[in-house]
Amino acid sequence: MNHPTNPKGETPQTLILEQPLIFEQGQEGRCGVDLPAIPEYRDRLGGLRRQDKIGLPGLSEPQVVRHYTRLSQKNYAIDSVFYPLGSCTMKHNPRLNEKLARLPGFAELHPLQPLSTVQGALELIDHLAHWLKTLTGMPAVAMSPAAGAQGEFCGMATIKAALLARGEHRTQVLAPESAHGTNPASAASLGFSVESIPATADGRVDMEILKAKLGPNTAALMLTNPNTCGLFERDMIAIAKAVHQAGAYFYCDGANFNAIVGRVRPSDLGIDAMHLNLHKTFSTPHGGGGPGAGPVVLSEELARFAPLPYVVHEAQGFRLVEHAAEADQSIGRLKGFHGQMGMFVRALAYLLSHGADGLWQASGDAVLSANYLLASLKDVMTASFEGPCMHEALFDDRFLKDTGVSTLDVAKALLDLGFHPMTMYFPLVVHGAMLIEPTETESRETLDEFIAALRHLVEQARDGQGEMFHSAPRNTPRRRLDETLAARKPQLRWAPLR
Ligand SMILES: *Cc1c(COP(=O)(O)O)cnc(C)c1O
Repeated sequence: MNHPTNPKGETPQTLILEQPLIFEQGQEGRCGVDLPAIPEYRDRLGGLRRQDKIGLPGLSEPQVVRHYTRLSQKNYAIDSVFYPLGSCTMKHNPRLNEKLARLPGFAELHPLQPLSTVQGALELIDHLAHWLKTLTGMPAVAMSPAAGAQGEFCGMATIKAALLARGEHRTQVLAPESAHGTNPASAASLGFSVESIPATADGRVDMEILKAKLGPNTAALMLTNPNTCGLFERDMIAIAKAVHQAGAYFYCDGANFNAIVGRVRPSDLGIDAMHLNLHKTFSTPHGGGGPGAGPVVLSEELARFAPLPYVVHEAQGFRLVEHAAEADQSIGRLKGFHGQMGMFVRALAYLLSHGADGLWQASGDAVLSANYLLASLKDVMTASFEGPCMHEALFDDRFLKDTGVSTLDVAKALLDLGFHPMTMYFPLVVHGAMLIEPTETESRETLDEFIAALRHLVEQARDGQGEMFHSAPRNTPRRRLDETLAARKPQLRWAPLR
């Protein structure tokens, strides 16, 4: 069958039509709703009144609906294809969570409502806090941080406060070289200097080097577990002991908690503080950059430095501790109000609907899926480390040697086969990294299709079909862009084909 082609000889994407920018479609005076004319009024704003037009495009409701629906179709998204970026970016968000978050009693809350009218919301925050403390085995949790990075800042600020309370001015923070960039950034923004610890050949913290670097100036170790190579840090207890012996604190980055929920309690590993990304592990959506929620569990010692406000349960009901007068050791406020209420509702819906047994199964299935991929691909791709992985399978680009094909080329070619690429070039500790996190919700059939796609690409790369890779993607609304130029000088206007 002959496909219709455009004048450039390309087969157009029939369902993804090009469209002028929304500002080019707009017409003055067009509107989705019929607004009454503004009645006569006396202008009391004087010179403060806006003189220029506000500049919004005038559009009908169907134009707006089509605009956003088409935009949503231009991307590979978890609701349409397998998305091997995993929980770290976006795992499946059960629709039940969404339904509950939209209940008017939650969705229409205002943070300045009188306490007597928000008892249910405060109880929900308290109940979620109870779950987070139970799952981590930690005695306290600060709920307000808005994301993982702010959680790190919060946890490290409590550590700084605890050191100051001891009369100590320790300035050094240690972090493995594979750490997520937010770890050194959070430490540095609190005035700490960060020193990195190299990994061993098996992808874990080098204990000898760690011990050698720990000293009277060490404030804390920041460590991710499972780490960013998808491996469990087996020496956690020994690491915690060494850190504490040096008088320092142990901060754990809990972004990869999805792999161990219900199976490992961070308190048993000797940690002092750890953030949880509700928008990763507990499935609250954070597409398009927002919103997240990064509660931080804290040890007994660090709890008194927790940020304001926090919820307390008293005989008369729930109340907020909001002022330093009541909590004079608190590090203070991190954000305007109590945290991300919509995320709290979704996370608690996820926890309650799964139950303890369901959470235990989810982490087990996440690890099983990743190991299934690792075992099914390691004969043709190069696994970076020996042995089984946790929730992510890490490969590097050694298998592409002499093929002229790069990690980026493989990612682009995957798009043509209908898959979102995996995480590329992170962690930085292996060359040309490909980090695959399938999560617990993908079926065996989907994993098999993805494995088949990758095996097919490996074969083509070895077959000298570099050209095919370099011209990928061909089936997407845009071909390969100059990514630097596209980021710096985005060209948003549709250039009609002639
Ligand atoms: C995502 C992530 C963070 C940062 O969390 P945000 O919620 O994006 O701020 C920190 N560390 C690791 C390992 C992560 O994966």
